[in-house]
Amino acid sequence: MQFYCESLTEYKRLATREVKIGDLLLGNFHPIRVQTMTTTDTMDTMATVEQSIRCIEAGAELVRITAPSKKEAENLLHIKNDLRRRGYTTPLVADIHFTPNAAEIAARIVEKVRVNPGNYVDKKKFELIEYTDADYAEEIDRIRDRFTPLVKICKEYGTAMRIGTNHGSLSDRIMSRYGDTPIGMVESAMEFLRIARYETYHNIVLSMKSSNPQVMVQAYRLLVRSMFDEFGECYPLHLGVTEAGDGEDGRVKSAIGIGTLLEDGLGDTIRVSLTEDPELEIPVCRDIAKRYERRTQKDRTTEKPKTINALRENAAGIPALVSSRPPYDPFHYQRRNTFVVDNIGGKHVPVVIADLSKMNMITPSDLHNIGYAYDEATDKWNISDAAADYIFTGKVELGFALPGTLKVITWPDHWQNAHDKTKYFPIYESKGFLEAESKSDLVNFVMLDCFSDKTPLNDFTYLDELANDRSVVLCLSSKNPHTMPAIRRMFIELQERKIDNPVVLIADSYWQTADEHLIHYATETGALLLDGFGDGICLGMTAGSYEHLASSLEQVNASGRNYSNNRTTEQFINNTAFSILQATRTRISKTEYISCPSCGRTLFDLQETTARIRSVTNHLKGVKIAIMGCIVNGPGEMADADFGYVGSGPGKITLYKGKEVMKRNVNSAVAVEELVNLLKENGAWVSP
Ligand code: SF4
Repeated sequence: MQFYCESLTEYKRLATREVKIGDLLLGNFHPIRVQTMTTTDTMDTMATVEQSIRCIEAGAELVRITAPSKKEAENLLHIKNDLRRRGYTTPLVADIHFTPNAAEIAARIVEKVRVNPGNYVDKKKFELIEYTDADYAEEIDRIRDRFTPLVKICKEYGTAMRIGTNHGSLSDRIMSRYGDTPIGMVESAMEFLRIARYETYHNIVLSMKSSNPQVMVQAYRLLVRSMFDEFGECYPLHLGVTEAGDGEDGRVKSAIGIGTLLEDGLGDTIRVSLTEDPELEIPVCRDIAKRYERRTQKDRTTEKPKTINALRENAAGIPALVSSRPPYDPFHYQRRNTFVVDNIGGKHVPVVIADLSKMNMITPSDLHNIGYAYDEATDKWNISDAAADYIFTGKVELGFALPGTLKVITWPDHWQNAHDKTKYFPIYESKGFLEAESKSDLVNFVMLDCFSDKTPLNDFTYLDELANDRSVVLCLSSKNPHTMPAIRRMFIELQERKIDNPVVLIADSYWQTADEHLIHYATETGALLLDGFGDGICLGMTAGSYEHLASSLEQVNASGRNYSNNRTTEQFINNTAFSILQATRTRISKTEYISCPSCGRTLFDLQETTARIRSVTNHLKGVKIAIMGCIVNGPGEMADADFGYVGSGPGKITLYKGKEVMKRNVNSAVAVEELVNLLKENGAWVSP
């Protein structure tokens, strides 16, 4: 194992134990299973059965249903019987928080129970307590006493279990000792896992969810490492970004978190938590999972021990790591050290380069798509928070004065004719730059295709020739089928060679639908940004994809899904770039919404309310607003939101600032208005 996965350079799924959930096998190289959760009231048998059927018909291989108390747990029997009577055998999962009694009933009925170790035994009071080792051991005994009966029931009935940790709902005990950290999340699950193993119960899946993809990815990596160190084996992983939100942002966040882990072969089942109808989550799950169906995996039974030279020629063409540790820490975020070229690298936020090279002519109004609105009356540019920093025009000449903050990248032949060399910069192929007679004194972009078939594996001499030229910004892309790891491998090479030039990540997409492109871009660039790699991004698209995307965007816009109202391909790509930077928290350009996917506990219409809150707050750059369906889990799971809007009873909303209640049981008719007042009272409001 390389730190947390089988390989950082070759696509290899992590070997995990096989788990049986009804007739469904999960883990141990079985296909990545997709699942969702119902949002109906569990006591409404008919509605829950019908929604479950819609999810199953959409492709869900597991359907989770909330069981907040004993009566809902008991009603799972009616739901299950009705589904089986109608011919649906898909395994059902009971979702449990705070109620061991409900878990013990559900475990006798459905194929799997999910418990949250943060609240299975403990009530959340947000208290910080000093524990001695003896106190702590006593707490673990208390958990053992309360949790063991459920383990025994699951063992007896052949029921599977997910130990599902959430970043936002760690117990006060874990928070007091480990803080709100990935290691705390791992320890929270490990406490329960040790108890289950002691009872020789192994039908277990684990998850480490957070609404912050960075925390989520680090926690899963640490979990794998911890299981491997302590038990010498790993249990299957259920991947998900919790409270991801809706529309474009929800998909981008989910793809970054889930995709980053799948790239390294981690993950046996996935759930995308969107504030949308649950059946809409399944196509997104499938779009994420299908990316790995094409990756080759060597037959490990024929693998022999290898020399370093043999490893350099692995199947995917990416040189294996020579050193025993990568020169970065995959468990902690630290941005790669770079020098500054113009406004790229160093402490500058990552820049966005819009690729407009496929346009025959570019006019001032075209810049509207990438965040610049020209006002003819005042002859001024209005620049949005999500305005691209550079445009790549290829050969296209611009016949108008540029907005002050925008710069242009062109092919070298065209750059030579550019009138303003402080705003126009050339982009070269790697060797082209070395051979070029004329170069910019300020900025030269140099493209490197990382480990595609044409790249010589052992020849990095050209890198040394470019190295540390203070005008060079490297632009990394790869045609290798295992693209992200190929580019990551190049970052490792740069670090080992002490090459500190800033880097722009170039991701081209050959997919067709809007969702497929979002997932592709988010995974390919987000995974690198989460590890601190990348000082800019440029998202492109193969020519054939343009046409398909246009019709796909029409469908998305007609469906009313929240896709930032993208009307054109350029708008869509530009918004996606900023969404990726926002989700990786490397560049904040808009309000962040942490909205729960809703479930049978939800006390108001989450989709409608989220849309209403968005419409009045979406100009509050950098403010994090949580919209949570119930007060049982909501406050715990709001994670690091600045403000919270939480259902506290039928028609009642409680408003939070951080974890502190500010306005209790506000009438829901005026709650959005009261939220705005709360933002104003706390200096978080600006006029739209
Ligand atoms: S916070 Fe939302 S998804 Fe979580 S239990 Fe409450 S209503 Fe359900």
